[in-house]
Amino acid sequence: MGQRGRTGAAALILRMKPPSLSPQIDSLPKAELHLHLEGSIQPATVRTLMARHGVKASEQEVLERYAFHDFPGFLETFKWVTSFLREPQDYALVGSDLAERLLEQNVVYVEATLSVGVMLLRKQQAEANFAALLHSTEPFERRGLRFRWVFDAVRQFGAAAAMAVVETAKTCKSKTIVAFGIGGDELQVETAAFRGVYERAAELGLHRLIHAGEVGGPERIREAIRLLEVERIGHGIAAIKDPLLMDLLAERKIPLEICPQSNVRTGALARQFSREHARIGDHPLPALFRHGIPVVLSTDDPALFHTTLRDEYDAAKQMGLQDSELEQICEMGFQYAFDPASKSRAT
Ligand SMILES: [Zn+2]
Repeated sequence: MGQRGRTGAAALILRMKPPSLSPQIDSLPKAELHLHLEGSIQPATVRTLMARHGVKASEQEVLERYAFHDFPGFLETFKWVTSFLREPQDYALVGSDLAERLLEQNVVYVEATLSVGVMLLRKQQAEANFAALLHSTEPFERRGLRFRWVFDAVRQFGAAAAMAVVETAKTCKSKTIVAFGIGGDELQVETAAFRGVYERAAELGLHRLIHAGEVGGPERIREAIRLLEVERIGHGIAAIKDPLLMDLLAERKIPLEICPQSNVRTGALARQFSREHARIGDHPLPALFRHGIPVVLSTDDPALFHTTLRDEYDAAKQMGLQDSELEQICEMGFQYAFDPASKSRAT
């Protein structure tokens, strides 16, 4: 190939390369507000946990579990991974693993979601698991990373199981537990069934969250605001289909916790548009943000979705958001955090 040919090929490669994150955005301290501890477990750590419990699996077998293609496949993998979290020391291991990864990405504040609903279903000592987690993550505060916790119930387990999660938050007695939330399959169980659960959470001084409008429609988001008085919405991408709801979210400044790679990989984004496939460029993040709705950018389940917070900012840039907009989104991560001491990244 001659000189001109090589130059032409190089130019083509440059054109094809997606725009990468500027050092200015990359170096900003960040907050992670929608991150499931159990979804942060890397394949290598799963193998360590399996070995601890005498379960054999090849690297390939574990990687195959992580290669799901839709929402039911994702829930199945999530369930499988958490089945190896059996002892408090298992939680301690995944807590410190996550902390190291967050520090590498300039994350200084995290509200990590803990699937207490799954612990209770497995008849585990949730208090002991949580104590081990605190023990393994608190030392990271000295290195500049503060952990706060969201106790999470599984929607399809029903209201009584969700209430048990709220009561566990009370018995754990830690100021680091800042919120109660519900995840899982939002197409199951009527939203109204959880009304008493959220009232009790509010009574205990917990902030309130829910996954809504991820695979469900905008009505799930409306119900969560009206019936449960939630303060942030997990995902909420269905809002893009309801202009009046977009107005409501913007007026009442109810943030959406946006996790773009998750929405692509679970098929949630394609589902919202009734398509077979959707790409990152189809994501409604820019439209929601430019409508004045507060948004925070997160990874959801970084190991399961093969992503990092850095990748999510990179994806947001690929969607056409400017650096000044990415900076505002980054700031919102602190503004809409539940720990008052985290309202500014300067603190
Ligand atoms: Zn989530």
